[in-house]
Amino acid sequence: MRLLDDAREVLDEVLPGLDKRLAEAPLMSWEQPGGPGLTVFREAGGPALLVPEVHGGRGTDLLTATRVQRAIGFRSPSLAVATTMHHFSAASLVEVVARSTGMEWMLLSAIARDNLLVASGFAEGRAGQGILTPTMTATERDGVVVLNGTKKPCSLAHSMDLMTASVTLPGTDGSPQLAVAVVPATTPGVSVRPFWNTPALAGAESDEVVFTDVEVPQDLVVRTELVDGDRLDHLQTVGFVWFELLMSASYLGAATALVDRLLAAPRADVGVQAQVASTVRAATLLLEGTAATAMGPINDERLADALVCRYAVQDAITRVLDLAVEGLGGLSFISSGDIAYLAGACRALAFHPPGRHRMAPALRDYFTGGPLRVP
Ligand SMILES: Cc1cc2nc3c(=O)[nH]c(=O)nc-3n(C[C@H](O)[C@H](O)[C@H](O)COP(=O)(O)OP(=O)(O)OC[C@H]3O[C@@H](n4cnc5c(N)ncnc54)[C@H](O)[C@@H]3O)c2cc1C
Repeated sequence: MRLLDDAREVLDEVLPGLDKRLAEAPLMSWEQPGGPGLTVFREAGGPALLVPEVHGGRGTDLLTATRVQRAIGFRSPSLAVATTMHHFSAASLVEVVARSTGMEWMLLSAIARDNLLVASGFAEGRAGQGILTPTMTATERDGVVVLNGTKKPCSLAHSMDLMTASVTLPGTDGSPQLAVAVVPATTPGVSVRPFWNTPALAGAESDEVVFTDVEVPQDLVVRTELVDGDRLDHLQTVGFVWFELLMSASYLGAATALVDRLLAAPRADVGVQAQVASTVRAATLLLEGTAATAMGPINDERLADALVCRYAVQDAITRVLDLAVEGLGGLSFISSGDIAYLAGACRALAFHPPGRHRMAPALRDYFTGGPLRVP
């Protein structure tokens, strides 16, 4: 399919055989809870994708990674969303290692060497709670940090080997400081409970991870820099840019699966076929241009661009869903669950942080000359 040619070529280059494996089974077999997608991803060496070559990984850059996620999203939206959470953790660790003289690089080496999957827990399942204000408690005791609380939804909950979780710790001046703890999944006190109650994206394993008196060594807790109010520090800014662009790519790939069906439909209106294909191509060009620019220094401007790109891709997907579902017609909708599934799954891009409405005042302030805040 021409809309995906370059993305598939790149996927074959960096994770040979993965696209072929994913193409061998129908869509819904990858989308079930406990489906085989994450096993196949591991077998293809996927966890090492962003780990720098010097630490044993593929060292894939942001633009290439968006192509990989688009190609995977076409075959399995759940796998693309779940692996975006892994890559978000990995990209953040790469940034930590680049700025630290500590031993964090050993984590990256272990991810590549042992094919480890890293979940990312920021949300706590409470409406209106910003992901940068965790309430999960972290206390220091006898040289370890003790975690209590819950992360939900947390993709990769059942397959993760490690998890990065946001916590608040008392800073040097006593005020709460955001920190990120790296927790092995087998640590005593870590458990998983069912949380995800919809078939959409159920293969991403976004259940609840519960921490009960979980002890984490101090050197596995990375404190973020102190910054004023809602402003992000550099590590968070880099993490958000990767997250927004890889998530957008994953859902754009999923929407392309619907477009593929429309382009193959003999009775579909040719005007609608051309329009949806062009809309996907335009969103791809925007995504790739934004990713290419963000391969230089990352700052507030690059994050604002990534957010603008994500909301524009979200709008493009909504338009594509609307036209493609109608253009495919009622019999296509009835004869297989794939169309209703893809239409529902693709809408979930809107639910990833920061939501458009939550972000609106901050973007308005940014575009009128203020600093970029993420509430
Ligand atoms: C497929 C999927 C996988 C996920 N995986 C993970 C994961 O692995 N790890 C993780 O940490 N999280 C994950 N999440 C959760 C995600 O990070 C969000 O935290 C969660 O979806 C937020 O839920 P919400 O939209 O109900 O929350 P809310 O932010 O409470 O939003 C509810 C509604 O209120 C509006 N709203 C909220 N605040 C404001 C405001 N200040 N001003 C105006 N309007 C506002 C929002 O726009 C929205 O319409 C996942 C989500 C999905 C969909």
